[in-house]
Amino acid sequence: MARRPGRNFLFVPGPTNVPERVLRAMVVSQEDHRSPIFPELTKPLYEGLKKVFKTKDGQVFIFPSSGTGGWEAALTNTLAPGDKVLTARFGQFSHLWTDMAQRLGLDVEVQEEEWGTGAHEEKIEEALVADKEHRIKAVMVVHNETATGVTSNIGAIRKAMDAAGHPALLFVDSVSGLASIDFRFDEWKVDCAVSGSQKGLMLPAGLGFVCVSQKALGVRKNAGLNKVYFDFQDHINTNPSGYFPYTPATPLLHGLREALQCIEDEGLENIFHRHHVLAEATRRAVNAWGLKLCAKSERWHSDTVSAIMVPEGIDAAKIIRHAYDRYNLALGAGLSKVAGKVFRIGHIGDLNELMLLGAIAGAEMSMLDNGVKIQAGSGVGAAQEYLRDNPIERQAAT
Ligand code: PLP
Repeated sequence: MARRPGRNFLFVPGPTNVPERVLRAMVVSQEDHRSPIFPELTKPLYEGLKKVFKTKDGQVFIFPSSGTGGWEAALTNTLAPGDKVLTARFGQFSHLWTDMAQRLGLDVEVQEEEWGTGAHEEKIEEALVADKEHRIKAVMVVHNETATGVTSNIGAIRKAMDAAGHPALLFVDSVSGLASIDFRFDEWKVDCAVSGSQKGLMLPAGLGFVCVSQKALGVRKNAGLNKVYFDFQDHINTNPSGYFPYTPATPLLHGLREALQCIEDEGLENIFHRHHVLAEATRRAVNAWGLKLCAKSERWHSDTVSAIMVPEGIDAAKIIRHAYDRYNLALGAGLSKVAGKVFRIGHIGDLNELMLLGAIAGAEMSMLDNGVKIQAGSGVGAAQEYLRDNPIERQAAT
């Protein structure tokens, strides 16, 4: 393959850019994962992750898997075949999690929502109120639907569940939300929160995280679904002493230690602010291009990914391919129902203003090269104006 000079611009919404210091931290010799000093590495990771999930009482599990494994762990450790769950489907990832629940033999009530919207708390409340016999054992929600760039309001969903007086567990996928947009495990009384390493946590793919409430841990005795690799119990037996029930992905754990330190150094609230500013700059660019987001209204805007609709008659897949071939820019593809209709800019993880402007410029050039009628420089200009007025670093309160 011919050498491509300069950097690849990685703007898919995961895997995201890994900070240099995290990359370096992963360059380690292989080691004995049963050595007496191994727990010095592993034990603090749980505490660090708990801070990121914003929990005191939740228990975090780390699986050598991706987010999909976390989904499976959450469902199989808490539910029995035939148990009823309520889900909302509004994009490829909420579809895949729903599909997994069906394939595991759960009785799945699906609220179909328009793609570009998210989970509607009022409809969830209605379904729970109607469920007088409390057959629904869990509500499953994707916090940030990466396929469409839509964020659902988990705090409002918790309020709706409380208003319905329903005891269902609350399961949340925050694979593309955690450590980049606000997530409050304890405050929102989440029972299982699922995430992965390759997005807000700025690591390669390969670790799946599940944060579990005491309530969800308590229902495990009735969870008749089969599980072996993802059984929480095996981790409960080994994790407190700092070990794993099987061979862990040790370099990733070293990377996780450094990534958690990066998060601590920047501060979670500063990270959320930075993501909001960069997302808003992207939205200004989209507006200046005269294009629309897949997200139907501000209520659904995601601060980690923007799915941008291309005009009728234009194939978004060609824009993405050309951006990659010509400008060494990786944009996110449209998935399933929105394939060919959108391209995505992932503004998640370790990035700053000038990196984002590079992606906006590349998207702009690729669109122009593919016949989209936009003004050269319009998106970049609008984003620049916004970014000049809105620093990514939070201003100290005066
Ligand atoms: N959930 C969401 C919201 C995602 O964006 C993804 C992957 O992009 C997944 C789940 C699946 O995670 P993984 O690909 O890490 O298995």
